[in-house]
Amino acid sequence: MTDYAIEARDVAVTYADGTEAVRDVDLLVERGEFFGFLGPNGAGKTTMIKTLVTLLRPTAGSVTVNGFDAVAEPRSVRATVGYMAQETSVDPELTARENLRFACDAYGVPRAERGDRIDELLELVELTDVANKVADDFSGGMKKRLDAATALVHRPPLVFLDEPTTGLDPAARNRLWAYFRRINDEGTTVFLTTQYLEEADQLCDRLAVIQNGAVVADGTPETLKRRVGGEVLTVALADGDESDRAVSIAREEGVFADGATIEPNANGLTVTARDARTRGTDLLVALRDAGIDVVGFDVRAPTLDDVFLAVTDEGAGGERASEIESTPTSAVPSGTVGDGGRGSSEAESGGEGETTGNGGDR
Ligand code: ADP
Repeated sequence: MTDYAIEARDVAVTYADGTEAVRDVDLLVERGEFFGFLGPNGAGKTTMIKTLVTLLRPTAGSVTVNGFDAVAEPRSVRATVGYMAQETSVDPELTARENLRFACDAYGVPRAERGDRIDELLELVELTDVANKVADDFSGGMKKRLDAATALVHRPPLVFLDEPTTGLDPAARNRLWAYFRRINDEGTTVFLTTQYLEEADQLCDRLAVIQNGAVVADGTPETLKRRVGGEVLTVALADGDESDRAVSIAREEGVFADGATIEPNANGLTVTARDARTRGTDLLVALRDAGIDVVGFDVRAPTLDDVFLAVTDEGAGGERASEIESTPTSAVPSGTVGDGGRGSSEAESGGEGETTGNGGDR
């Protein structure tokens, strides 16, 4: 028995219209891990998830989930995974309990076990009090919790959560986080995609960042943050229009050690450097000597946002550290440039997109 819940090697997924949504992706997720899959819009996250849950067929490469080959044994894969899609699967006309009963039917949960299983899940997602109310009356957060519960009725050892908290307010998000942590603590492997980097940082043991269909970084949140290379110094200027001049000074004076990244931001500049903390005051002196007024100054440890900007920028071919002028477009995470757009959205809504190659019946 393999130790991996997910073993994907050299996976490529090309849609029928020629869009290469995923290229050469390797993913290894250990059993019990809380794994995060991050990337800007259009990067290929949903395509990869749908491939892992056998809704899409890989054009090339091999996908093994819970020890089953996704192309040869899709039924076994489906029986052993839970999938919370971006589109809700909750039926608004049914009550919470009826929705769960329906999911039990769909997943073939033995009749004798259903009652207890449903009570347990309602309790877990804190919907016991409203179990007999129709889902249409639920808030967005309640619907998402019910959705997450329906993905778990068959007690899958691996659950896929595709942007489960998008659009929720922070309180609702926090409740879902607690719930995801709990199922992971109880042994369920979790594969999460998210656009919220803080969410990934809070929850995930390990992450991969995907951009334009390729993995551009992976590791634990801590490793990835270390990869940013030091601490982050932000300087706010009285006059934001002086940003570019301040950046030139910081670069030309050689204040920071080699490898520093010095970039303008909306009202000043941001420096990422090993010696950002110790040499920060030297920069302030240099700016004052040049007649530039500083109104704010902050040094902090890097966050996943910094990681994300750095790696998606590298992936886009930017050269942050060495370019003198700012590269504003590359600072905005966007995977949609040059990707040919969304060819056949009707395939998406059905959850069954057309991909090319790799035969097999399903
Ligand atoms: P993400 O989940 O990271 O936002 P997706 O996997 O949805 O990214 O999309 C990856 C790329 O594939 C995008 O360029 C998107 O436009 C394209 N795409 C998604 N679904 C389809 C489809 N059914 N047909 C053609 N292209 C698609």
